[in-house]
Amino acid sequence: MSLKLTLLGSNSAIPSVNRWTTSQFLSINGCGVLIDCGEGCQIRLKNFGVRFNSINQIYISHLHGDHFFGLVGLISSFHLLGRKIPLTVFCPNGLKQIIDLQLELSLTKLNYELIFIETNPLEVNVVYDCDKYSVTSFPLLHSLPTTGFFFKEKYKQPNIKKNFIIEHNLSIEEIQKLKAGKDYVDENGEIFKNEDVTYNKSIAKSYAYCSDTRFCPEIVPVFQNTDLIYHEATYTSAFQHLAEERLHSTAKEAAIIAKMANAKQLIIGHFSKRYSNSADLLIEAQEVFPNTIVAEDGLVIDC
Ligand SMILES: [Zn+2]
Ligand SMILES: [Zn+2]
Repeated sequence: MSLKLTLLGSNSAIPSVNRWTTSQFLSINGCGVLIDCGEGCQIRLKNFGVRFNSINQIYISHLHGDHFFGLVGLISSFHLLGRKIPLTVFCPNGLKQIIDLQLELSLTKLNYELIFIETNPLEVNVVYDCDKYSVTSFPLLHSLPTTGFFFKEKYKQPNIKKNFIIEHNLSIEEIQKLKAGKDYVDENGEIFKNEDVTYNKSIAKSYAYCSDTRFCPEIVPVFQNTDLIYHEATYTSAFQHLAEERLHSTAKEAAIIAKMANAKQLIIGHFSKRYSNSADLLIEAQEVFPNTIVAEDGLVIDC
């Protein structure tokens, strides 16, 4: 099982030379997913070696331009490159009309199927579920309808050693118990540890993407114990009033969310342009949640 995140853009609002606006590429159990699609995302994909045809789904958190202005360009490039496989976009209400209008007025008839699935910014919903992973959208608190996304790999059941099955003449029920992680106890009361009789065990990894939001602890149960969490941290606590007014979070608040969730690692990003470097933001977050790193364009995190 593998979960690998590539940060394509990590800035808020306006792209700068080294920090482009928000987009991320997640490779989850062998499948490719794009999360938000800021302006110039397709250049970033090339910069950081992500193949266009590895993207099968796109998840858009909300309709502020720094999170989706790269989408129509990417959709158009897929078309020009001869894409045939369908593309599904999970997004808030309104994005379909925007893209449809741009395609219609540019007389573009896509040679692949473009599917839009509307997210609900008011409740927690499983928006995608297959045998490899599931995706849950959850409400965030921002100035536009906004959702975060929780990506979770599916746990693959282990195999049981063949000779053990034969020697102990295991029933279907006993096999199922072993696959579920239980130990085996034979008729004489002898205990066989699960790890001694199974192999190919896998660990299901998970990633929580918390896009633009005011501090929102109600969402934590959705991604409790996640391996990795990205949380916006537009300001330091010195500008708490701006975070509240503009419905963003401070670095400290992002760290509190990670701590409450018992996450293993936190990435903070989406910093206000008032910060020429991220040192103060990182220090503030690490005081609460030590295993915090700063989002940088091109950063790859392999869980
Ligand atoms: Zn933003
Ligand atoms: Zn926003």
